[in-house]
Amino acid sequence: MAEHNGRIYGIWPAAQRQGVIAGINMADGNESYAGTVPSTSLKVAGIHLTSMGDILAEDKTVEQVKVKNLDKNIYKKLFIKEGKIIGAIFLGNTKNAYEIGQLMEKKSDVSKFKDKILEADFDIKSL
Ligand SMILES: Cc1cc2nc3c(=O)[nH]c(=O)nc-3n(C[C@H](O)[C@H](O)[C@H](O)COP(=O)(O)OP(=O)(O)OC[C@H]3O[C@@H](n4cnc5c(N)ncnc54)[C@H](O)[C@@H]3O)c2cc1C
Repeated sequence: MAEHNGRIYGIWPAAQRQGVIAGINMADGNESYAGTVPSTSLKVAGIHLTSMGDILAEDKTVEQVKVKNLDKNIYKKLFIKEGKIIGAIFLGNTKNAYEIGQLMEKKSDVSKFKDKILEADFDIKSL
């Protein structure tokens, strides 16, 4: 793994992406590494927990969208800045966490569906 913009990620997805880009460039391609959205998953004692990106943002320009179902031990939260997801927490139900990570990586504008995106029946794959 290589340092990028002063940061050593220390996680497998960054190492994998950097390896892919190094391979492309060694094969005469022209690809740049733009960073990786940091994510951590915990799977112990029946607990499913994933966090991604910036989950400590307290800046007033960061909007928080939450879904809570404490009877089922489900808690999900998105951190949205200027229409883009910058962080996410999934506890109890990690459905769509991968797809939300992809939207973060692509810096997609989610303003139009931000209030529905965490709902269990939201069809995120159609985006
Ligand atoms: C205990 C532990 C748990 C982890 N858990 C997670 C996790 O849950 N999720 C996650 O995303 N990441 C995790 N990581 C981090 C992840 O393993 C690393 O980010 C990733 O392996 C880095 O990949 P790499 O290819 O850059 O380096 P490495 O996997 O370290 O590969 C480097 C390779 O180069 C070889 N090498 C070194 N020097 C030389 C040399 N001079 N000549 C020839 N070969 C050499 C080494 O032997 C090694 O095989 C964990 C790391 C540790 C230590």
